[in-house]
Amino acid sequence: MPDPQAPFWRRKAMSEMTRAEWESLCDGCGRCCLNKLIDEDTDATVFTDVGCKLLDGASCRCRDYAHRQSKVRDCVRLTPRNVRRLKWLPPTCAYRLVAEGKDLAWWHPLVSGDPETVHCAGVSVRGRVTASETDVPDDRLEEYIVSWPGKWPKGARRARRARAARSPPAPRARARSPPPPARGRPRDPGCPPARARPPRRSGRAWA
Ligand code: SF4
Ligand code: SF4
Repeated sequence: MPDPQAPFWRRKAMSEMTRAEWESLCDGCGRCCLNKLIDEDTDATVFTDVGCKLLDGASCRCRDYAHRQSKVRDCVRLTPRNVRRLKWLPPTCAYRLVAEGKDLAWWHPLVSGDPETVHCAGVSVRGRVTASETDVPDDRLEEYIVSWPGKWPKGARRARRARAARSPPAPRARARSPPPPARGRPRDPGCPPARARPPRRSGRAWA
C-alpha cells in the first residue's frame, strides 16, 4: 500500500499520473534534445553536443513547443507506454528514473522547489550546446560526439555530498512530508514537458 503522504512520483504508477503531474516530471535539462547517433554494428547510442534546431541552449527549452512535431519530424512525445522502451534517454532523465523505480534527485525542481537547480547542478545543457543541427551536416555529426549527456554529472554528486555534509540528517517524518509545490515546471508552452529526440542511425563503429 503506497504511503499517501509520499510524493506522487513515488506513490503513483506512471499511467495513473495526471497530465499536470506527468508534465511536471520533466526537469527541463534539455539533454534529450541533443542529436544522438546509433552505431549500426553495436547498437550503442552516443550523444553529441549538437542541439535540435528548436532547442534554446540557454533556457534549455524548445523554441516552438506547440508546433514542434510538425517542425521536427522525429521529435518524440514521451508517454507512460514508450518511456520504458527508450533506452537512449539520459540516465538523469526523471522519466527514466521513475520508470526504473528510482527517486528524483535533489536538483529536480519538484524536489528543490527551484527550477534553477537543474542548471546549477550541471545537469542541464545550458551553455554546453556547441552548435545547432542547422549548422552541422549529418556527415560531420560524429565530430561532435560527447560523453557527458550519458553520465550522471559529477557536480551533482559533489553538491549532494556537500549538502549532506552541511545538513544534519533529515528527521524521518520529513521523508513522509508532502512534496513541494510543482512550481519548477510552469505550464509554459515553450517549456516542453515530455520530449525526446531519438538517435539517428549511423554506420560508424565507435567500439
Ligand atoms: S524528458 Fe528530456 S528534458 Fe525532460 S527530464 Fe528527460 S531528458 Fe530532461
Ligand atoms: S522538444 Fe523536440 S522539437 Fe523541441 S527542441 Fe526538443 S527535440 Fe527539438
